Amino acid sequence: MKVVVCVKQIPDPANPYTLEEGTHWLTRPDDQILDDTDRYGVEMGLQLAQGNEGTVTLVSMGPAGNAQGIRQALAMGADKAIIIEDGDLRGADALTTSRVLAAAIEREGFDLVIAGTESTDGYSGVIPQMLAEHLGTPALTYAKKVDIGDGTVTIDRQTNDGYDVVATELPVVVSVTAGVVEPRYPTFKGIMDAKKKPVEHLTLTDLGVETSADQKVVSISDAPGRAAGKKVEDDGEAYQAIVALLEERKVI
Ligand SMILES: Cc1cc2nc3c(=O)[nH]c(=O)nc-3n(C[C@H](O)[C@H](O)[C@H](O)COP(=O)(O)OP(=O)(O)OC[C@H]3O[C@@H](n4cnc5c(N)ncnc54)[C@H](O)[C@@H]3O)c2cc1C
Repeated sequence: MKVVVCVKQIPDPANPYTLEEGTHWLTRPDDQILDDTDRYGVEMGLQLAQGNEGTVTLVSMGPAGNAQGIRQALAMGADKAIIIEDGDLRGADALTTSRVLAAAIEREGFDLVIAGTESTDGYSGVIPQMLAEHLGTPALTYAKKVDIGDGTVTIDRQTNDGYDVVATELPVVVSVTAGVVEPRYPTFKGIMDAKKKPVEHLTLTDLGVETSADQKVVSISDAPGRAAGKKVEDDGEAYQAIVALLEERKVI
C-alpha cells in the first residue's frame, strides 16, 4: 500500500514569528520544524504502512531551507520525501497549495493520503478536503481512529458530541486529529538513516502546474489586548453572579 503523508515545515513557534516588510508574509527562516500537527499524520502513516506492507512518502510544499523538519519526519521512519519549492509559489493561497500538492501526489501514485486537520501557522483547515477534490477521492476528515482492511478505510470521525463511524474504499484522503496516535520520537539510528533517505526536489515546471499565486496581505494590525476579566468576591452567594454571567453569555 502506498501511503503519502502531507507534512508542512513551519517556523518554530517557540520563537516569535516575524512578518516580512512590505509583503507582510511570514518570514520563513532556513531552520524550520515539522509542524507538530503533522507528526500525528506521519505516525499514523507509518503504523498503517507497517500493517499493510506499505511505504510512506512525505510531500511538502514551501521554502525547503535546510529541510530540518522533513528530516524529522524521515527520522521517524518515512521512506522518502518530495519537496516542492518554487519562487512562483510566494504568496500561494490554500487553493494553489492544494493543486500543487495534488499534482505531486498524483505523480507519485497513492492508495492513501494523510494530512493534518489544520496547520499550526496557517490553520485554514481546508487542504485535505481540497486535495480530495483534486485527486477525485472521498475525504474522510477529523479522524481520531483509522483502520484499514480489505481495501476499505474506516475512521472514527470526531464530532462535537462524540464520533461517527465513516467508511469508504481506497484510494482516499484522510485528515487526522492530534491524538489519533502517539507520535514516536526518532531514535539515534533513525536520525542517522534519515540522512541517506531520498529527498526529491520539484518545481512547478516539473509538475506541469501553472499557478496564479497572487494573494496579497494588504494591511496588518496588532491583535486587540484582552479585556480585563470580571472579579466576583465570594460572600457565600457568588455562585449566583456566576450563573447570571453564564446565562448572559448564553453558555447555559
Ligand atoms: C500570505 C501567504 C503567503 C504564502 N506564501 C507562501 C510561500 O511563499 N511559499 C509557499 O510554498 N507557500 C506559501 N503559502 C502557502 C501556505 O504556507 C500554506 O501551505 C497554505 O496556504 C495552506 O494553508 P494552511 O497551512 O492553513 O492549511 P491547512 O488546511 O490548515 O493544513 C492542513 C494540513 O494540510 C497539509 N498541508 C498544508 N499546507 C501544506 C504544505 N505547504 N505542504 C504540505 N502539506 C501541507 C498538512 O498536513 C496540514 O496539517 C502562503 C500562504 C499565505 C496565506
